[in-house]
Amino acid sequence: MNHTHPFTRLVPERWRWAHKAFAWLAQYAWQPCPLCERPFGGHEWRDIDGKTSLIPNPASVYGHLGICPACTRAGRGHRQPVPWDLPDHFQGD
Ligand SMILES: [Zn+2]
Repeated sequence: MNHTHPFTRLVPERWRWAHKAFAWLAQYAWQPCPLCERPFGGHEWRDIDGKTSLIPNPASVYGHLGICPACTRAGRGHRQPVPWDLPDHFQGD
């Protein structure tokens, strides 16, 4: 999640048509952000400035959904703890 795709580094985020075309050409997902509903490409999805690009998935106990770069930058992402994040002494056997 900390990897920024080169296309995303080179092409301004406001050029939505270019990102949409690239997602189609490179076979990345192009789908609405679960928070703001603006479509974004899978190649744009990444953590930004240490802020997470995930939110808990209401349809899954430990699952998460990716959010768009604008929501990530705004600090709207958050992770819920999952068992494999906990130190060993919290884990049952
Ligand atoms: Zn969003």
